[in-house]
Amino acid sequence: MSQITLGILGGGQLGSMLSIAAKKLNIRTVIYSDDKEAPAQNFCDEFIYSEYSNKNQIYDFIKKVSIITYEFENIPFETLNEINKLKTVYPKPSINRLIQHRLAEKDFVNKLNIRTTRYVSVEKRSDLDSLDDFLPGILKTTTMGYDGKGQYPIKSLNDINNLNIDFSKEYILEKLVKLKKEISLIITRFGNNKYEIYEPIENIHENQILRKSKIPADIDNSLYEQSKEWSIQISEELKYIGTLCVEFFIDRNDNLYVNEIAPRVHNSGHLTINAFNVSQFENHVRAVCSLDQIPLKKLHNAEMINLIGDQIKIYRQNQNLKENEFFFDYLKKEIKDNRKMGHLTILK
Ligand code: ADP
Ligand code: MG
Repeated sequence: MSQITLGILGGGQLGSMLSIAAKKLNIRTVIYSDDKEAPAQNFCDEFIYSEYSNKNQIYDFIKKVSIITYEFENIPFETLNEINKLKTVYPKPSINRLIQHRLAEKDFVNKLNIRTTRYVSVEKRSDLDSLDDFLPGILKTTTMGYDGKGQYPIKSLNDINNLNIDFSKEYILEKLVKLKKEISLIITRFGNNKYEIYEPIENIHENQILRKSKIPADIDNSLYEQSKEWSIQISEELKYIGTLCVEFFIDRNDNLYVNEIAPRVHNSGHLTINAFNVSQFENHVRAVCSLDQIPLKKLHNAEMINLIGDQIKIYRQNQNLKENEFFFDYLKKEIKDNRKMGHLTILK
């Protein structure tokens, strides 16, 4: 078989892990990123640094690769769509456009009769005056948010005046769910009714950033089944190719809500590298490159801890790990508060 070269837009840690998975399958990777310091350049075969709007560089990138995917959702739709005319992009650009907009994403999920949090569009400051009903809530930018960025918890309308919110952007206001737990479900779809599905992963967030993930999730069987069913329904409806993650909330009455969808591999699935026969990254590469599907097998229970900001330091200095512990350093040059610097997976 001729050599496959996978093009990946985005050069963060997810791009690194996709590159490592591709290498294992004898697939070359070319990463395109607008970040000169993109950590994935340490793991891919070839790295292109340029703006996503640079047509010449994008054209060069397209010529070098057989197929294209992306590792974060905030790639401009125009870029993905232009590329897709010349070479296949998976997941399809229209899926990314839908999901990168919180309002469109939530409308889509509701149309499938799947429960989400209660939400309402906020286009100007005065819209909020009549929305007491959604408080306490979280005001979120409709686009470009991640790791809690662009989010404002709001208890009362008075809070809004003190928050210095930029109302030139569009928002949604979401009613706060009294959370009992958060879980995520990772699924890789290969084609019509062909998928591999990981068991639900239980997630603990601190300051809206993922701190820990573990399997098995400590939830009732009915929630296990419901989260699986909804994730299958979402990926079938999207005709998705590749790995997708659905984030869920569980409230104190054990109601399940879809929080958001990530059209890509996901931080909560890092434990799949060590805990399963095939990781979420390998499955993504297999699906987008039309390789064989391998039945998924869990090898271990596991816990993954994100190393955020300074927390990476002691692991960089001392790698005295036990046999069941796996440390990943994303090789980001600068340590910043609230920045995911690496992770530790512990097999149980
Ligand atoms: P991001 O795109 O930054 O991941 P999310 O919408 O997933 O944004 O929010 C991040 C975290 O903030 C969630 O995982 C959850 O812990 C908390 N959160 C967000 N929205 C709500 C909500 N409506 N009710 C309760 N908690 C929420
Ligand atoms: Mg989230």
